[in-house]
Amino acid sequence: MRDTISIDRIARLHPKVRDTFQQFIEECESTFDITLRIMLGYRTIAEQDTLYAQGRTTGGNIVTNAKGGQSFHNYGLAVDLCHILDNKQVDWNYDMSTLKPIADKYCLEWGGSWVHIKDRPHFEARLGFQENCSDLLAIVKAGNVDENGYVNLP
Ligand SMILES: [Zn+2]
Repeated sequence: MRDTISIDRIARLHPKVRDTFQQFIEECESTFDITLRIMLGYRTIAEQDTLYAQGRTTGGNIVTNAKGGQSFHNYGLAVDLCHILDNKQVDWNYDMSTLKPIADKYCLEWGGSWVHIKDRPHFEARLGFQENCSDLLAIVKAGNVDENGYVNLP
């Protein structure tokens, strides 16, 4: 990991996928000699609800179609990545599709391959769960979470 901010954000992901995402990012960085930053990793269900309200019941523009609990970010199972340059600026033009073969190797789903709404910075560890996270949300609603609030995975 070349970016210290990302190291902190890896540590807030679900414990079961921290190593996977770290290895994935490190392999991307070494393969292409780039630095990646996790712009977003874990986002709580409450934070997601606040974001969903934006542009609907609160001000601003609509920024997400996922309600609280419907995003893999809400379980610490997804990251949004960007490429950062030597001067620490974000390179928004970087072609994230180059990372897809490595994501495949780690069984990570790339949001850029989605048909309807492409989410090119997004990579998620779906782990066999439903795309809308309904089964993950059911586990959380049943109170089946660990002492830090992470969903207990079977
Ligand atoms: Zn995302």
